[in-house]
Amino acid sequence: MEQVIVVLFFTFFALEFLVEFILNEINMSYVQARFAERKIPDIFQGKISSEDYGKSVEYTLVKGRFERWARVYGSLVTLFVLFSGLLPYLDHFSRSAGGWFPASLKAPGILFCFGVAVTFSLLSLPTGLYVTFVIEERFGFNKTTLKLYLIDKLKGLLVSLVIGIPFLFGVLYLMEGTGRYWWLWAFLFILAFQILMVIIYPTLIAPLFNKFEPLREGELRERILTLAEKAGFKTSGIYTMDGSRRSAHSNAYFTGLGRARRIVLFDTLLEQMTEAQGLAVLAHEIGHYKMKHVRKMLVIQGVFLFAGLYILSFLVGYEPLFRAFGLAPSSHAALVLFSLISGPFTFYFAPLMNLLSRRHEYEADRFSIRMLQDGKPMEEALFNLTVKNLSNLTPHPWYSAYYYSHPTAEERISAMRQEARRSLS
Ligand SMILES: [Zn+2]
Repeated sequence: MEQVIVVLFFTFFALEFLVEFILNEINMSYVQARFAERKIPDIFQGKISSEDYGKSVEYTLVKGRFERWARVYGSLVTLFVLFSGLLPYLDHFSRSAGGWFPASLKAPGILFCFGVAVTFSLLSLPTGLYVTFVIEERFGFNKTTLKLYLIDKLKGLLVSLVIGIPFLFGVLYLMEGTGRYWWLWAFLFILAFQILMVIIYPTLIAPLFNKFEPLREGELRERILTLAEKAGFKTSGIYTMDGSRRSAHSNAYFTGLGRARRIVLFDTLLEQMTEAQGLAVLAHEIGHYKMKHVRKMLVIQGVFLFAGLYILSFLVGYEPLFRAFGLAPSSHAALVLFSLISGPFTFYFAPLMNLLSRRHEYEADRFSIRMLQDGKPMEEALFNLTVKNLSNLTPHPWYSAYYYSHPTAEERISAMRQEARRSLS
């Protein structure tokens, strides 16, 4: 049975690898072919210089070529962790080191999970460093220093310890202490934890890494206040963030729930845009709030969580699964194995989540147009964002359908023009 499990895993693992590797190759040759014909989408005609277009193609291809090798490396890392004997070693080590603590603290399980997580983050350090200090640097986007980069990693590790220890303790406790229906209790616990994270991320965690400031005085502020009031959004929730400390990429996002909800505008975004464009972006973010997009995503994630835990409730008692990877059955081994091997069996759900996310983006764009009674500023803002971030103007349709959480600029702008014709005429 163990062999069957390993063969099954390898088959699905290879399938996921192939799908994603091929999508990347298709996308690169598509971008190259379009560039050779100088065929950019009509809507970009006259909006982007041929120099900027050339730069965006180069940026896309450099990232794509790196992705090719990063994907091979990442797959080798996963296989190494699963089959090198590292897992049984870590399990053995955490059982003896964790034995110093009272059994009720679940120390061996927590140590094991962290051991695996730290292994992955150490092994992914080289690719992260290359992307930031070679690729992003070359195209003028990188603003971080090696020191700040490493401090960020260290802070991230500390935060994950502070959050992860009680979280793992809770899950392991429920798995081992609540009988047959442990997975239902674990579901409620993890769901509550996720909601808590949505609330504390913007208010407690993100500020550890960036400075968030209420909007400064000025005309934009007045217009934002008026707009937010009109839409029923509490203006104390609008912040600017010092994104320029690390990267020249620009962005804006809406996050949080209830009183912790926030709209965050990167300082890089405000610098690049006219007031009218900034306002249109803000109206788009208010749209996410009005349409309850954060809540809807949480519900979908909850459904996946429920299904995942239900499946795990069967696997937890299935010994051959543990033996296939050299492990003895235990709650913590089940958690780690499940998170390591479920990817190849569930990766085709990611494009579905992206599909939903893209629908939310269209909704927020429509909201912005109706709110401002004008489609032009949002369109200009998108052109601006696309050019300044050197976004790929011509992704292969399969590639964008699979990976993009936002529709392409071309898709968004043509949808907005349609909406403007419908609602503003
Ligand atoms: Zn959005």
